[in-house]
Amino acid sequence: MRSLIPLLATLPLLLALPAKTAPDMPSHEPAVKTVVGRIDKSRLEAIVHGLAAFPTRHTLSGANGVDAAATWLEGEFDKIATESGGRLQIVKQTWTEPAGNRIPAPAELTNVLATLPGTASPERVIVISGHYDSRVTDVLDAKSVAPGANDDASGVAVVLEVARAMALSKVRFPATVIFAAVTGEEQGLYGSAYLAKSLKAQNKNVIAMFTNDIVGNSRGEDGKKDDRRVRVFSAGFDPGAEPASLARQRAAGTDADSPARTLARSVKITASRYVEGFGVELVYRNDRYGRGGDHTPFLQNGYPSAVRLTEPNEDWRHQHQDLRTENGVQYGDLPEFVDYAYLRRVAQVNAAIVAELATAPTAPVNVRLRGDLSAKTTLTWDAVTDPIAGYEVLTRRTTAPVWEKTVRLPATEARTVLPYSKDDYLFAVCAVGKTGARSLPTIPLAGPARP
Ligand SMILES: [Zn+2]
Repeated sequence: MRSLIPLLATLPLLLALPAKTAPDMPSHEPAVKTVVGRIDKSRLEAIVHGLAAFPTRHTLSGANGVDAAATWLEGEFDKIATESGGRLQIVKQTWTEPAGNRIPAPAELTNVLATLPGTASPERVIVISGHYDSRVTDVLDAKSVAPGANDDASGVAVVLEVARAMALSKVRFPATVIFAAVTGEEQGLYGSAYLAKSLKAQNKNVIAMFTNDIVGNSRGEDGKKDDRRVRVFSAGFDPGAEPASLARQRAAGTDADSPARTLARSVKITASRYVEGFGVELVYRNDRYGRGGDHTPFLQNGYPSAVRLTEPNEDWRHQHQDLRTENGVQYGDLPEFVDYAYLRRVAQVNAAIVAELATAPTAPVNVRLRGDLSAKTTLTWDAVTDPIAGYEVLTRRTTAPVWEKTVRLPATEARTVLPYSKDDYLFAVCAVGKTGARSLPTIPLAGPARP
């Protein structure tokens, strides 16, 4: 009886499959699995402690503060580069930020970037970031001790550990990954904005961007512990969408499928396949209420497929606080308040989605949904030229938060007719690589489909 339940659950899917389909597709990509398995708690812990040991990493703290931390991070990336036989390329990206809100005078700022160049499609870029600057109660206080262990040494540790796991794996990834430790977040997202603009100026195709910010604490201020989830925030809009593209989305009713949200859904699906006993909680807003994060400059600079990862239960006694004890309560962002086993799980979620997208074939393009008078749905797309095992067509009801059903098609089929009404369902098409890596889903546009 127990085994009947999963069978019943898959019955609607099986019934829905067109007769000649259902090719074999690996459910797990071996390289992704290996990268996820390499994520190590003690190394995450060492990075958080290493960063928290600087007296402050305030953006304006100069030589003994933020600049010393940047040099230390460069050294940590260099160790990985050496161990990997030079696969990682490290650069310090330095510029003069003009005076502005929270920057009283022009200041020299530095991002530390490590690039793992792609092999087959290096022009496709995935960015994973954390911010290494820190702060205390007064955002302009560049002198007081500001360990910034959770905000955001935890995010930077994730970036370094995923870089290590990927660079040291034997696999060559088709797409390029940029591992970024950015500065100036607390002063106004300056480091991330500079990075996004510099990628835009180089015409890079950033297919996905993840910022990890406050990802290491599992116990909320109310004492509740939750070490089995991470929140993924995604915008329901693309600020750079042209009026014509917005009009098409409105006409097609695909306004719930913004690029950020489509990416967030893929993070959830990927985490469920590779990180056992740990889940992704999707939050359908760009960021925490009224707050900012390093994914937003990407959205604003033409890279709308950008999301934020943050722990579910925050403890504000350990964020943006002067180090002090009040009524027996320790305030301040100290490394002792980071749950390193939890941080490891968040790093595994990142490792899974970044390695999967870096391994995946190009996403299908020119996906069209025919607007004919029929209860069925016809989808067509341009055949993906990369070697693939086939396609997955994802469907869900218009009110469902995540994809509900998957229909598999062989590589020879760049077209399908599904027994679901296009009035009541939403659709997307992924390409699946020979070894099982899924591309990001492409949302169809209304328009003339091939016959
Ligand atoms: Zn932060």
